[in-house]
Amino acid sequence: MYSITLKEGREKLPQKHHPWIFSGAIDKIMPSYTKADWAEVYSCDGRFIAYGYYDERSHIVLHLISWKRNNSPGDELIRNLVRQSVLRRRYLLSLDDTTALRLIHGDADFLPGIAADCYGKEIRIIISSRFADAFLPVIAAELDSMLHPSVIESTVDKTYASSEGLSEKTRHFREGKETKESDERPNVLFVENGIYYEAAPGKGQKSGFYADQRDNRQITELYAKGKTVLDLFSYTGGFTLHALRGGALSVDSVDSSESALRHLLYQIHLNENKGVLPPSSRDKVETHQGNAFEFLRNAEKDKYDMMILDPPKLAKTKSGLEQAVKAYKDLNRVAMEKIKDGGIIATFSCSGAMTRENFQTIIAWAAADAGVEVQILRTLSAGEDHPVRVSFPESEYLKGFILRIWK
Ligand code: SAH
Repeated sequence: MYSITLKEGREKLPQKHHPWIFSGAIDKIMPSYTKADWAEVYSCDGRFIAYGYYDERSHIVLHLISWKRNNSPGDELIRNLVRQSVLRRRYLLSLDDTTALRLIHGDADFLPGIAADCYGKEIRIIISSRFADAFLPVIAAELDSMLHPSVIESTVDKTYASSEGLSEKTRHFREGKETKESDERPNVLFVENGIYYEAAPGKGQKSGFYADQRDNRQITELYAKGKTVLDLFSYTGGFTLHALRGGALSVDSVDSSESALRHLLYQIHLNENKGVLPPSSRDKVETHQGNAFEFLRNAEKDKYDMMILDPPKLAKTKSGLEQAVKAYKDLNRVAMEKIKDGGIIATFSCSGAMTRENFQTIIAWAAADAGVEVQILRTLSAGEDHPVRVSFPESEYLKGFILRIWK
């Protein structure tokens, strides 16, 4: 285990349990670096701060993991952290009408660079750090022993593959052991708030589905009765399906991904067959493959009484924030201009670099430019399986509002 001393003044955030330390904050490392390993981390005046994992090839060289002096680091600590993370979700895991949830949410669950999602009988892991890659077999074995999934599939997040020097290969685990699986595995069936979905193996965005929007889909359903709805950035139709169940008159679903829209239509049939949606639901939906910003600009004014704006992460980093602010503002302004008087907009930002205050300010600027009054009816965030650690504000990435627009 290494012993690492931080530079003077660089201990403040780590002492407040922020987990990231970049190379510029490190003063001394003993013994000198040979390979990735655990580390004890000290302030310049020799006070213990935390245990971490040090890997010079990672873009965050030191991930702090435990601030408890008596938690000795190693595989047992990892197994413990996985166990606690799953146990914290006991309530969600006990539900019959929801079988898709996040089991491990990275640093917010003290496991940096690892997201583990459960979809019915399968677990899908996304790796975005060398730490997670190094401990994947330990993490998979613990998940297996607690939850007995049929298979665990792990992929590497493309955004981080090159900065972390990780190969993008997909790995599988069954009964705690690494296995080889065919790409031809059937889709996995799961349910969220009583609506059925399927996720194809090894495909799709995130680990196949955006489980973070679970509560927000349920909430938007409350506003959908009798509405003409526009679901922008629909992906495979989470919001579209809820709008249909909520009694929407019609839904236009827009996404740049052709395959996501095909899957959306398939999932409407799936829910018609399961008796969740009435048989005529498919006829109420039109899918539009293309650029959602453009679709909205060309949309007929006063056609829609409800819109969902759920764009991808527009600010990937803090430096990309300025450009993203403009895009968020334009999107919301045009939506406000086009929507019917009294209409409802569910608007989201999943950019970790943007704060909630920032996002609300953007909404206010958009309202001023569109010349409308806006009321915030509800403030939205990711579900409880995507917790926000207060010492790590970056974990509050999903922010949203239900807005009412008055003209
Ligand atoms: N609302 C979805 C999740 C949206 S994720 C749900 O509830 O599951 C963002 C989606 O935006 C992705 O499906 C992606 O394909 C799509 N996308 C990205 N850029 C786009 C663009 N410019 N126009 C339309 N869709 C876009």
